[in-house]
Amino acid sequence: MKEFDVVVIGGGPAGYVAAIRSAQLGLSTALVDEYVGKDGKHALGGTCLNAGCIPSKALLDSSEHYHRVKHKFGSHGITATGLTLDVSKMIERKDKIVSTLTKGVAGLFKKNKITWLQGHGRLELGMKVRVSPVAGEGEEEVVQAKHIILATGSVPRTLPNLTIDQEKVVDSTGALEFKEVPKRLGVIGAGVIGLELGSVWSRLGAEVVVLEAMDDFLAMTDEQIAAEALKEFKRQGLDIHLGARVNKADVSGAGVVVDYEDAEGEHQLEVDKLVVAVGRKPHTDGLNSTEVDLFVDESGYIHVDEFCCTNIPDIYAIGDVVRGPMLAHKGSEEGIMVAERIAGKKTRVNHDTIPWVIYTWPEIAWVGKTEKALKKEAREFQSGTFPMRASGRALAMEETVGLVKVITDAGTDEILGVHIFGAAASELIAEAVVAMEYKASAEDLACIVHAHPTMSEAVHEAALGVHKRSLHI
Ligand code: FAD
Ligand code: NAD
Repeated sequence: MKEFDVVVIGGGPAGYVAAIRSAQLGLSTALVDEYVGKDGKHALGGTCLNAGCIPSKALLDSSEHYHRVKHKFGSHGITATGLTLDVSKMIERKDKIVSTLTKGVAGLFKKNKITWLQGHGRLELGMKVRVSPVAGEGEEEVVQAKHIILATGSVPRTLPNLTIDQEKVVDSTGALEFKEVPKRLGVIGAGVIGLELGSVWSRLGAEVVVLEAMDDFLAMTDEQIAAEALKEFKRQGLDIHLGARVNKADVSGAGVVVDYEDAEGEHQLEVDKLVVAVGRKPHTDGLNSTEVDLFVDESGYIHVDEFCCTNIPDIYAIGDVVRGPMLAHKGSEEGIMVAERIAGKKTRVNHDTIPWVIYTWPEIAWVGKTEKALKKEAREFQSGTFPMRASGRALAMEETVGLVKVITDAGTDEILGVHIFGAAASELIAEAVVAMEYKASAEDLACIVHAHPTMSEAVHEAALGVHKRSLHI
């Protein structure tokens, strides 16, 4: 039986990063992964690289280019005639990016001498992992581990009266594979996936209707930002219905007929395709044999402490399969922490400074607390905002929608949260993460020189605004 210092189950951004860091630290490492791509071959990278972060961003970029040429270039004095759209080429480009990255991870495994075991991993008594082939090839094998890291990720949630057929009713994976632009597209859930993938197909010309069960839009974001974003997305053509609960969908006709209910009563919506984006759930199916007493909580998450230790000594769990936001970078940082702690280091992850980004256009990004959360804690705070329309760079780019908000402690001025809606918010938020990690105050941020003209000046101005010192508004 082969023996390893570390065996990781799951090759997404949590697991593969944990494996690379373990190998860098001199630990003999194997990683088991069962993912099989649409070409029928095993691929590393998990949801993120194969059917999540990367393919969705590839399509978001392509669709934004198309939308810009069609609707935004005119004011710059640029006219394009004979504009065409080749969806299959767009999907091909996306697939190529995915394959470059997943092959890149395989290359990193080779370089770091990590053993890639292809198949389903099952935890057995005595720190053993049974690897069973999933694609009908190969032989079952059992490996022995000194340490095991569980990184089995998450899968889409479904609704009771809906069957995902990946043709007419699709989840996020199916919504990345349409062969043509649907005329009418329904989306259930105005969460991160609903907004990102709804935006892709809306920019390409689909009429998109989004049904969201909650009365609040993007409840986890700053209220002011959420209100601005809702206004802007509706202006862009996303037909977002809040407080709309879907009961069932009928696929017997040519399209899909969705029955939903809101405060005004019952309604029917007819669409060509329906995307179900109602959240994701931790994936632990078939992960442990019954003798292994792994503690999984009532929501299906593997229970861990702040260092990602499970209830079983030397077995850790990281990424989407444990508490905290389901974000690739959160999983990767947990992977690094666990590998380093196995190697005897004292690493920890600061869960308070994990940034969120929603890749709509404009983007929404934030780190830290919202005003709503601080009010709930009865913590006194102050805030400064700066609208993008007052930024010279934003005007030059014709990207004047949105704002930056900096929230600080009323007594110490320590930054407690930064919330951005605007072009390049995904990049701007990094400055806020560094500032918060170093416990900077708004005054610290205000004292730092920001290049002119850049969008980052809006962050500077919002920090100045906390003390009513903004210069350009
Ligand atoms: P996963 O990436 O889910 O990987 C788990 C892997 O384990 C999979 O390959 C799975 O096949 C394998 N596995 C499971 N069980 C077993 C087993 N028993 N044996 C062997 N293998 C097993 N996050 C961001 O931060 N930014 C984004 O822009 C972003 N965009 C997204 C867009 C979409 C459409 C989706 C669906 C998700 C997006 N996410 C994004 C979320 C992100 O993909 C996840 O947070 C991330 O992939 C979680 O990483 P993970 O390693 O924990 O799990
Ligand atoms: P989500 O939790 O962001 O949104 C799901 C939405 O569906 C919620 O607003 C919920 O109220 C709504 N909903 C639930 N049941 C419903 C019903 N019956 N009818 C109508 N609406 C209903 O989940 P998601 O968009 O599926 O994404 C899953 C996770 O994947 C995200 O939470 C995030 O962690 C991750 N993700 C991240 C990114 C990113 O970082 N940019 C992108 C995509 C996904």
